[in-house]
Amino acid sequence: MNTHEVCPGVFQIEEDYRVYCVLVAGEKNALLWDTGMGKRDLRTFVEQEVSTPCLVLNSHGHYDHVGGNRRFPSVRLAREDWPLLGEAPDYALEDLPAGAEFDLGGETAECVCLAGHTRGSRGLLLRRRRLLLAGDALNPRLQLLGPEAAGLDRLNETLRSVLALPFDEYLAGHVPSPLKRAQAEAHLRHLEHFDAGAMESFTLAGAQAWRSEWRQGSLRSVFIMDERSEP
Ligand SMILES: [Zn+2]
Repeated sequence: MNTHEVCPGVFQIEEDYRVYCVLVAGEKNALLWDTGMGKRDLRTFVEQEVSTPCLVLNSHGHYDHVGGNRRFPSVRLAREDWPLLGEAPDYALEDLPAGAEFDLGGETAECVCLAGHTRGSRGLLLRRRRLLLAGDALNPRLQLLGPEAAGLDRLNETLRSVLALPFDEYLAGHVPSPLKRAQAEAHLRHLEHFDAGAMESFTLAGAQAWRSEWRQGSLRSVFIMDERSEP
């Protein structure tokens, strides 16, 4: 599997083309962030890489982040996103509330709310490394699609609370290298200047969708919304 060590003990794993999971190896515990499409045997991979127990967490409930859950005995995912899993899972599913902390030994991983992309989107702050694992919640091209997406007011709250956290870079679910904090700031600037009337309309998977773009220097923030998402 295509693996890249972002910083000591933090591995970004390309589970499928441009679908990334993250393995954080602590002294006492490891943590797997997302399970991808389910095409690869991530469990065997993790067992080869680390000798400690490994917690499995999902950033949110979309299929390309939960596909390999079935290979593990238990997984944590925010309750708001459980309906996205469809059928009842055949593994133990536990809630992943904001504020949960995981002691990995030498690093504490703190769960934070990143509602927007989905209502149950979560981030994981690795405070010692000043790194945030963000799933799809802060993607440069931020999708707010379907009834599972939160509205722009909620996204505004999320961005404000995220930017109060001590991190310099973050890992996104479909970007091969860390993104700068300034990218999350660009999303907030975009919201502050958001003009619904200036959105570009297009068709996405047969549904009416809208695109809004904000540029600041070399940074670009894009929001994609559709008729099912909350205004
Ligand atoms: Zn997603």
